[in-house]
Amino acid sequence: MATVTIDVDLPPGVTLTAYHRHGDGHGFEVSWPLPDRCRCDRCQREEDSSIEYRDTPQVVRDLDVWGQPSFFVYQPAFHRCPGCNYRQFFIPPFRRKDVSYTYRFEQHVLRSLIGSNEEEVARRLAISAETVGLIVKNQLADAKAKQVDPGRVISDVGIDELSLKKRHKLYVTILTDLTDPDRLEVLAVADGRDEAAAQKCLEKLSAEQRQRVQAYRADMGPPFHAACRKLLPNAKAVVDRFHVAKKFNEAIDGQRKKNHAGLQEEAVESRAEGVPVADVGVPPPSAGPVGGREGEVGGAVRHAAPAAAAVRVPGALPGDL
Ligand SMILES: [Zn+2]
Repeated sequence: MATVTIDVDLPPGVTLTAYHRHGDGHGFEVSWPLPDRCRCDRCQREEDSSIEYRDTPQVVRDLDVWGQPSFFVYQPAFHRCPGCNYRQFFIPPFRRKDVSYTYRFEQHVLRSLIGSNEEEVARRLAISAETVGLIVKNQLADAKAKQVDPGRVISDVGIDELSLKKRHKLYVTILTDLTDPDRLEVLAVADGRDEAAAQKCLEKLSAEQRQRVQAYRADMGPPFHAACRKLLPNAKAVVDRFHVAKKFNEAIDGQRKKNHAGLQEEAVESRAEGVPVADVGVPPPSAGPVGGREGEVGGAVRHAAPAAAAVRVPGALPGDL
């Protein structure tokens, strides 16, 4: 049995407690502090938390490790409302209500759509096209509601179109901050893929912020360039098709594959020898949204900065090197 080390960046406050091999995936057991007080969604009564745990673990899809899916696994905790007996589940800081994947998995899906389409991304990640659709919907709603911090220093941006429904020709334009390759972030989203859409995205930046942008990448044709020339007076165009997708993938590789160099080569080689993609895409067992007389509460941390934690993984390489 071989031993490798993986660095896992965790959302703030989340602790890694164990690792399990999960078929051709990786299961990371996590926990996080629960709030002392809890308000019941059903009767609105607020009380000191009275915490109980559900028997079956919850499995939540996270980013891939070595091209294999990884999952956060935890014992769902709930507050039992003393007023109405409702089971009020606590929402972990790494995912939104009623979904079985992390925020950063959602962001990965959105980025994967640059230069691709829903069906292809669904196939590649072994999730349904409906799930991709829902993720996109939630991510776009978040991005539209989001304000860009006027103090943020932005020197390098990318403007891309996303094709959402191939047949219905539904497009959105997204503006990405490319300033720090390790912290790429979607800044703004607008419907359509014309000059007005690009302009709408760029106008989320203050005039001063736009003055400071030195380079923009806009690969998808003249309308985006026109908007950038107008609104980014000091920026030069950089042409590199699919640059954003590439940069995102580099950043994810950097974050997720800090294992020992020697072993990584072997891991990649062994994977190339043939772990079929279909086998790798194991969907999380019984990871559907919680149903019945249950609700969720509390503590979602959006756009969380990663904190590092290392975990030793015995025998986690495909094919037991
Ligand atoms: Zn209640």
